[in-house]
Amino acid sequence: MPASIISIADRFRSLSIADLLEDKRIVTAFEFIDTSSQRFTAELIRICEIPAPPFKEQERGRYFAARFNELGLDDVHTDSEGNVIGFYRGEREQPLIVLSAHLDTVFPEGTDVKVRYVGSRMCAPGIADNCAGLAAMIGLIQALNAGQIKLRGTVAFVATVGEEGEGDLRGVRHLFNEGKLAKRVSAFISFDGPGVDFITHQALGSRRYRVRLEGPGGHSWGDFGVVNPVHALSRAVARLADYHAPSEPRTTYSVGRIEGGESVNVIPQSASMDVDLRSASEAELTRLEDFLLTALNRAVIDENVMRAASGKKLKAEVRLIGNRPSGETPRESYLVRTAMEASRVMGITPILNRASTDSNVPISLGIPAITIGVGGRSNDCHRLSEWFDPTGRELGYKRALLLAVGMTGIV
Ligand SMILES: [Zn+2]
Repeated sequence: MPASIISIADRFRSLSIADLLEDKRIVTAFEFIDTSSQRFTAELIRICEIPAPPFKEQERGRYFAARFNELGLDDVHTDSEGNVIGFYRGEREQPLIVLSAHLDTVFPEGTDVKVRYVGSRMCAPGIADNCAGLAAMIGLIQALNAGQIKLRGTVAFVATVGEEGEGDLRGVRHLFNEGKLAKRVSAFISFDGPGVDFITHQALGSRRYRVRLEGPGGHSWGDFGVVNPVHALSRAVARLADYHAPSEPRTTYSVGRIEGGESVNVIPQSASMDVDLRSASEAELTRLEDFLLTALNRAVIDENVMRAASGKKLKAEVRLIGNRPSGETPRESYLVRTAMEASRVMGITPILNRASTDSNVPISLGIPAITIGVGGRSNDCHRLSEWFDPTGRELGYKRALLLAVGMTGIV
């Protein structure tokens, strides 16, 4: 066996997650998890039926602040961005591990969030993404309490705002940049959605732009020769569509929305589009972004030059509406190894993968971070037909418990 393999195996053994399974307090906590399925489901339904549209997570946040207090967390508070924070204090403050789940859904205000049963499936928008993660956070606190588990370090439970879409990770950004926990966090774990198969340790970076071009408009016949924002925008789209994105590191782009103009015989006054750029590599993302901005600039100049005789020019407004950094928590990091080991002792063979989650922000700051599922099954996320089936949820909760205790240590 090559030396490197032996040393990796040795390091795994030294984590002794398997030893935790012998600890009476962990056994008690596991028994609690095994016998609390109804309690966990009731919690899940309560959370899901409090709407949390983008930028309107306050009501669900208030529920979490109340729950954190009821469950005995320390220093429960809501920060200025809307994140709800509470501490399960150990012997010391360090290591300080953040366990989090996002409060927001993708669904607008007024969406019916009543949970309906179809067989063993619970159906409601947001039930899996991310009410499953939020409910697991509550279940984990209850399990720690049930086992009277005394930690060496401290866990900060955080219900974050603004994970989805245009929320653009505003909750975690605040937490790690201006919040009271900034620069004190040793590792970050996000519970997001069901399943136990994936450990997301790589952050998929993205940049999103909203572009708007404006001109004077006019009559298609009478004013011919005036700058046309739709023509200019189309030139930019055509240039972008010809960009050769590498497949490794995977890099993608899409113009997801385009609109403009008023009528067939009218030179439009405006045209706009939303563009989504993604890459596994920060350098490739920047290259693609530069290409888009140059293509836009060229497209506007070309239209202005082409129609210079009219004496009118197009105005361009380019707004960055999403900016998620990329990066990764190394496989060899203590956090990833502990998560792998906690999975393995539960009989799970995890797959390391890449996604865009709350972990993007700590990863970009060099703080070890992963995102994991919390058991059960689901489908149709981000659709009104979203469903969650709690079968196998105990496995997710137990792994989460082992991971939390493995990261902080037990006294
Ligand atoms: Zn999510």
